Amino acid sequence: MATELKTFIGSQFINKLVLADIEFIPHLEKINDFAATNGLKIFITSSARPWGLPVGGAIVSPAKMSNHLIGHAIDMNIQIGGKLYTSHELGDFNSLPPAIKAFITAIRNHPVLRWGGDFGDPVHIDDGLNLRNPNLWKDKFPIIQSELTGLTQPGIRAVNTPRLLFLTTPLMEGNDVKLVQEKLLTKGFDLGKNGADSFFGQATSQAVVKFQDQQDLDPVDGIVGDTTRKALGL
Ligand SMILES: [Zn+2]
Repeated sequence: MATELKTFIGSQFINKLVLADIEFIPHLEKINDFAATNGLKIFITSSARPWGLPVGGAIVSPAKMSNHLIGHAIDMNIQIGGKLYTSHELGDFNSLPPAIKAFITAIRNHPVLRWGGDFGDPVHIDDGLNLRNPNLWKDKFPIIQSELTGLTQPGIRAVNTPRLLFLTTPLMEGNDVKLVQEKLLTKGFDLGKNGADSFFGQATSQAVVKFQDQQDLDPVDGIVGDTTRKALGL
């Protein structure tokens, strides 16, 4: 078993960074392929999720062994031709445009991927690991949760390295975020009306992307890690 929390960036994935178990990454690549084939963008609203935290706007309360808790699920809306298809539209399969139907059909035909619309949750895709191999789910759960906790809660990370900062739900908060925001403001980047408020929100994420682009950093992903910190002078 390999269990490790990773970030995933796909050509068709927009809005939020995906956090996933390393063993779910090949499935994310497949989902990205299906989206590319059908000319869709996958608008990510949630992926790996800390245990017990409510998620804004979720229409289904997490099942006891949710695949979100081990980084084997995404919640998404689908964007095509400038229109965003949310749970309301996605819940009515027959009325969907052919490209979205083809995307969902590809998910359904995949050997392990599941479209949540088949069990009342049309914005959800996972690989059914909780049912296929509950013992593996139980092995992965504490590992992914401890890595998520280290990422999202300041001060808890055991190793003495700064945490990665990026856009999450709920938002990351802390003095480390504020330090990054102050540097961005000093360098002339716009953080919107809230300024350096210690929350890593949309405006901060966009400013980081612009900064990385301006500095020719690779990748330009909106994630503050070692390279971006150094470039900011932190
Ligand atoms: Zn979900």
